[in-house]
Amino acid sequence: MISLDKLMEGAATLADGAAKVTGDLVQKGKKQVDQIALENKLAKAQRQLGALVYSLHKNGEKNDALVERYVQAIADVEAEITALSELSVEQPEPQQETATYCPQCGAEVDPGAIFCARCGNKLL
Ligand SMILES: [Zn+2]
Repeated sequence: MISLDKLMEGAATLADGAAKVTGDLVQKGKKQVDQIALENKLAKAQRQLGALVYSLHKNGEKNDALVERYVQAIADVEAEITALSELSVEQPEPQQETATYCPQCGAEVDPGAIFCARCGNKLL
């Protein structure tokens, strides 16, 4: 006899599984958002550094400390983006073997087969 406790346990396990999948999807979406935000931050810092260097150069000034701070900030963001993209490296999908059919009799044959296993028609 199946007890109510066992049924509840089974239902809880199923719910946990569903919650985990949903969590992964949310995590994946968040990671993409993070990456976009970081890329925006990087582009912005690069633009600001460019503008700073341009204006310093134009006015014959030097402010290496400030330039250095921008360079460091850009390097930090780049490192964050690299770390994030390394996290999201996914295993490539296994190549799907396409089914091959014998033109003579229509039987499904192995993609590498030379002769049809049913009628013996030469396939290659
Ligand atoms: Zn055949």
